[in-house]
Amino acid sequence: SAAANSAKCIFCKIIKGEIPSHKLIETNLSYAFLDINPLARGHALVIPKYHAEKLHELPDEYLADALPVAKKIAVAQGAENYNILQNNGRIAHQFVDHVHFHVVPKPSASDEEG
Ligand code: 5GP
Ligand code: ZN
Repeated sequence: SAAANSAKCIFCKIIKGEIPSHKLIETNLSYAFLDINPLARGHALVIPKYHAEKLHELPDEYLADALPVAKKIAVAQGAENYNILQNNGRIAHQFVDHVHFHVVPKPSASDEEG
């Protein structure tokens, strides 16, 4: 069941504070934090406060809340170049079965010098 999966879900535990995280933004429906294994400095994850494994299982209200949070992170980072990524299913490189949006800055050569 969704409840049983939620009980052992690491992202549900992060939302509840049972696993520590570096929080960036929290709304009523979303939680955003730094990725533990970043692809670039500032790599963030935005997750709905609702246990759905895949995007098509997520209620629209949660989906509608998540992207503006990703946008706020991109603005706060001042990133000119970045990727928003969202994977569904193992073959598509999803390894945590709780919907999440990656915000991955793509630093330019000059950013790295700074
Ligand atoms: P996926 O491949 O499922 O789209 O990405 C899952 C992401 O979650 C990975 O980038 C991974 O580093 C991150 N991640 C996995 N476990 C944890 C954790 O316990 N804490 C944090 N902050 N990130 C995690
Ligand atoms: Zn979950």
